[in-house]
Amino acid sequence: MSTDDLCPCGSGKAYDDCCGPLLATEELASTAEQLMRSRYTAYFYGNREHLWRTWHPRTRPAEVTVDPSTTWTALRILDVRDGGPDDDTGVVEFVASYDGGELRERSRFAKRGGRWFYLDEES
Ligand SMILES: [Zn+2]
Repeated sequence: MSTDDLCPCGSGKAYDDCCGPLLATEELASTAEQLMRSRYTAYFYGNREHLWRTWHPRTRPAEVTVDPSTTWTALRILDVRDGGPDDDTGVVEFVASYDGGELRERSRFAKRGGRWFYLDEES
């Protein structure tokens, strides 16, 4: 993969300036939206390790499964509530498109030990 390739999360930035360093564990997400984007990119690449380590220990499954037959095509962020560098919780609403459908969710994120984690879907 070239370092100039655009990030799959749709930010318009190069992968290496966006989700790349997060998936490579070189950097931590500073906002909930950043973490959300990196998790979409992890689904895009089938990176189960990143999904697991960014999933809150309270809610994460013993093993993260990724359906290899799903081709993710786009991510759109619809709404962001809190989740900034100085917040402890945040909500990100998004639509993730894949071959044949789309997934819409309001996800809750929480900070623990200075790191952002995906918690669950807001009910
Ligand atoms: Zn990205």
